[in-house]
Amino acid sequence: MGSAPSSAPNCFELLSAEPLVVIFIGPGGVGKGTLARRLVENDSQLWLSKSWTSRARRASESGDEYHFVDRPTFEEAISKGTFLEWAEFHGNLYGTPLPNSPDGCDVLLEIEVQGAEQVLKQDPSAVVFLILPPSLERLEERLRGRGDDDQHVDERLQSAPAELKRGRELASYVVVNDDLERASEEILSILEGLRRTRRGPSSKD
Ligand code: ADP
Ligand code: 5GP
Repeated sequence: MGSAPSSAPNCFELLSAEPLVVIFIGPGGVGKGTLARRLVENDSQLWLSKSWTSRARRASESGDEYHFVDRPTFEEAISKGTFLEWAEFHGNLYGTPLPNSPDGCDVLLEIEVQGAEQVLKQDPSAVVFLILPPSLERLEERLRGRGDDDQHVDERLQSAPAELKRGRELASYVVVNDDLERASEEILSILEGLRRTRRGPSSKD
């Protein structure tokens, strides 16, 4: 079950090309979701997948960030083959439904490393971006700033080193999310380069 992006993608000119599958990984709180939403607003050829989760909604969340379900509903969906990938992370289930992106659109997944491994097994041409915080102090500030409780902050800080280590092994590109605008520009310019390389010079940027 995919989300409707905030602006309608316009991918018709790409119909003859193989869509890019773009994956953002990085420790919780680094800004993957914020960057992803900003990118789809600025890149009409990019479609953001909406994940399912069994985690409770945070007070700071509007409810649109995920398809929030209880654990039995998630498990039933697993058994029905709903997901491209799914994983358990700090006691909650997270999964990417089989994409139903508009024809021709490139697909953006914002997931953790176990999920990225599963997608890469199915599609080795998927492009992985590891998003880094400027520092662990900034990461903690961002987690607290978005309203995570102490337990969430501790869990995400504890798993950050392992995610960064595995993330570096999986990633084709490493981008520091220092300034939102700068980091999104860097990613957009990499995506434009990838489109040109994969689709040839006539591809529309
Ligand atoms: P993730 O999806 O990686 O868990 P979020 O996108 O929820 O992270 O971002 C965590 C918090 O950090 C949010 O409150 C967001 O507004 C903030 N944030 C994201 N990117 C930046 C940035 N470049 N500078 C300052 N704050 C940021
Ligand atoms: P959070 O609870 O902070 O929203 O997310 C926790 C972690 O789960 C983050 O690293 C986030 O990227 C990841 N995540 C979100 N959606 C999915 C998904 O569909 N699949 C997987 N494997 N991880 C996801």
